[in-house]
Amino acid sequence: MPVTDLSIKELSHQLNTGMVTSQQVIKEYLNHIRSVDGEVHSFLYVDEAGAMEKAKQADDARAAGKKSPSPLFGIPLAVKDIITVEGMPCTCGSKILEGYIPPYSATVVNRLEAAGMIVIGKTNTDEFAMGSTTENSAYGLTRNPWNLGHVPGGSSGGSAAAVSARMAPVALGTDTGGSVRQPAGFCGISGIKPTYGRVSRYGLVAYGSSLDVCGIFGASVEDIAPVYSAIAGHDNMDATTSITVPSTVLANKAKNLKGKRIGVPKEYFIGGLQAEVEREIRAALATLRGLGAELVDISLPHTEYAVPVYYIIAPAEASANLARFDGIRFGPQLQGKSMWDVFLRTRGEKFGDEVTRRIMLGTYALSSGYYDAYYGQAQKVRQRIRADFVKAFTQVDALVGPVAPTTALKIGAHSGDPLAMYLEDIYTVTANLAGIPGITIPVGFDDQGLPVGMQLLGNFFAEDDLFTIASVFQEHTHWHRQRPALAKA
Ligand code: GLN
Repeated sequence: MPVTDLSIKELSHQLNTGMVTSQQVIKEYLNHIRSVDGEVHSFLYVDEAGAMEKAKQADDARAAGKKSPSPLFGIPLAVKDIITVEGMPCTCGSKILEGYIPPYSATVVNRLEAAGMIVIGKTNTDEFAMGSTTENSAYGLTRNPWNLGHVPGGSSGGSAAAVSARMAPVALGTDTGGSVRQPAGFCGISGIKPTYGRVSRYGLVAYGSSLDVCGIFGASVEDIAPVYSAIAGHDNMDATTSITVPSTVLANKAKNLKGKRIGVPKEYFIGGLQAEVEREIRAALATLRGLGAELVDISLPHTEYAVPVYYIIAPAEASANLARFDGIRFGPQLQGKSMWDVFLRTRGEKFGDEVTRRIMLGTYALSSGYYDAYYGQAQKVRQRIRADFVKAFTQVDALVGPVAPTTALKIGAHSGDPLAMYLEDIYTVTANLAGIPGITIPVGFDDQGLPVGMQLLGNFFAEDDLFTIASVFQEHTHWHRQRPALAKA
């Protein structure tokens, strides 16, 4: 089996027993990136020299008898290009940050490097994470490894495609309205969006600060678990992180799902859901029941308001967050006669259309005279959406449903129709509005051979429940072991 196909556990075992060196592992990944990323375009930047140097240091440390207790020691990591890694470019998929090299790393990156992980590069994203397909990147689109004519989802499409095509064993993304869970579904892999406040946002370039969270991609939840455990927990650099101790995940492996109550929200199986997606999800529900779970009908009555509420709150927060990109402090600067001229010219030219649209929408929603009617009202409805979940979790341990209404869209399917694109987010934005965690796992394929993803949503800080349900499912199914042909190229 090629090194690039191994699970984290297998990789770690091979490294610890001397079957492979970190340098061999990194070299194989870099070679694989060279052979397939010309077609997929997952990476915006690959740090070949830096990764090889760190691999050598890891091997030297091992040779000197320094055993690391971390299961992540010497293991490669890809990072979405909206998360800072000291010394590596961070463009956020935008021309306004072209050439910007941050002087510090995000807390999540620091923690993973401290555990011994080696960052191999930065992955493509919709500009400032605004999008659902990665087509909004200013540096070209990323293609779905299962079918190059389709999108990988977004906005963390580069990270999802990289893991799916085995250019990285695990990757970091961000999820403001679905950007980890949806691309994981489109690319046939697993992805987690933790509870808001469970993982530090320090070093994540802010999009919607009350919604953003760092998430993780892997082939299986077992691959994701050690990465999650390494990054979860309070951070002095992010006052919104919880001081509660993160639950341990996958500590004692459950054999079945006896005693687990899993809710099936009726609002998640409505018109517009692709028939093959519903077919595969229903089959997965039967599997869950077969494993001992009790399925319970649930209603989340405010679901229909989630997309409009999200598309007021997210752009409103984005319009404030993106004000810092003024051509003076970060990135390129266009010359002008006055300071305002510099601002206007730089922002006017360097922001793409979708980002500009969101800044305008958000500024309008926050403007005097309209604030109460839009942002204020959206915040009230957001509380109703949250209350739906709070109530549901008095009855069940988790909720289950599709992650998106369709499988991966054809490239260009919604270009020029932002509303159609926004509606794709119906099943994912609710978790961000409420702040609850979610995990996507692959559960089948449509008739064209594109993956179908299922989403599990959990109670606040109950990531352990989600990991347990997902891992028992994966223990008894094979979907997470399926690879696109490109993964073996
Ligand atoms: N598709 C959503 C948006 O465009 C979510 C993106 C995200 O989670 N970053 O805002």
